[in-house]
Amino acid sequence: MFRYRLYPDSKQISILEKNLSATCFLYNKLLEAKIKAYKNGGKSLRKFDMNNHIVKLKRKHPELKAVHSQALQNVSDRVDKAYQNFFRRVKEGKSKAGFPRFKSFRRYKSITYPQSGFEIRSNKLRLSKIGDVKIILHRPVQGKIKTLAIKRTSTGKWFASFSCGVSIKESKHRFPDNRIGIDVGLESFATLSDGIKIDNPRYLIASERRLKLLQRKLSKKTKDSENRRKARLEVARLHELVTSQRQDFLHKLSRFFVQKYGIIAVEDLNIKGMVRHPCLAKHINDASWGTFFRNLAYKAEEAGCEVMKVSPNKTSVTCSQCGTDVPKTLAIRWHRCPNCGLHIHRDLNSARLILSKADTAGTAGFQACGEGSSSLFESSPSAKQEAPSVRVG
Ligand SMILES: [Zn+2]
Repeated sequence: MFRYRLYPDSKQISILEKNLSATCFLYNKLLEAKIKAYKNGGKSLRKFDMNNHIVKLKRKHPELKAVHSQALQNVSDRVDKAYQNFFRRVKEGKSKAGFPRFKSFRRYKSITYPQSGFEIRSNKLRLSKIGDVKIILHRPVQGKIKTLAIKRTSTGKWFASFSCGVSIKESKHRFPDNRIGIDVGLESFATLSDGIKIDNPRYLIASERRLKLLQRKLSKKTKDSENRRKARLEVARLHELVTSQRQDFLHKLSRFFVQKYGIIAVEDLNIKGMVRHPCLAKHINDASWGTFFRNLAYKAEEAGCEVMKVSPNKTSVTCSQCGTDVPKTLAIRWHRCPNCGLHIHRDLNSARLILSKADTAGTAGFQACGEGSSSLFESSPSAKQEAPSVRVG
């Protein structure tokens, strides 16, 4: 993903805003049609049907014609995706599956050009039906461009995000034999199997704290007041800062790993019930872990190293030296093995265990590390699930 700041002039801003409001309108129309079709006999409206519907809507609502046609069709993709996510959540048995919602203009923030309708010309981005918008290309776009998203932030800045396909090189990793296990945790952002701890940077912790404070202040302001509007803008600004600081940290961190290690072992956080503890959900790291693992995965592809996901089953219990189960509550921060006498920090024990699970999986096939043992996981005294007395935030 390559992201650049855009500097549209006032005329272009007004066209962009109109584009956003037209696509937002379309999103809600398509969602409405999809819901209606579903209620009238459970038939599902496919992307193809929605695209046909767009043609009809265009006749009735000429403002849609101001938007590039592919950007309109992309809205069908979004509605479709929102539905797929909804059904996935239902299937996973999430109690609050959250039916796809209609969007307000304030919450509708981007237009996507799937294949065409844009072109980069030195310091200008040519957008079909919008014009040549000034763009700051602080680094070159690499790889084949797949899609372009034009985004408006809640503070009114504009960005262009290019998503590109990586050209997978047959390049060998410089250190194919370097292997590392990573345990993501509460005390530190991550603990490595070689004993190194990685913490959230101080500046990030500081801005997170300040954000929480401002959010609390915002909630106390009277509705629809000028003060509330100001406070909301302030929160949005800080939110943007926190997001970009966090992303910067996670990018640098994942780059460090893929350059240094040939094999990186992490826990598979997708296993049901993982981070969703009410207490942990508020934690600063909650949002970051997923992003970090995604970054690792796609950067690994480019760097020619391998990310192995192992089951989180018992990674906080089993002794990494002898394999004995040593159950402990989250309050107990040290792993003391009664069998072999190993005495190390619990996160380090987990990191070592994650690495050894990956080693076993590498030689004995992936079933060896307990793929799909989510029921086992739920009943096991895994620390990441108990979390009775953790202090967070
Ligand atoms: Zn032991």
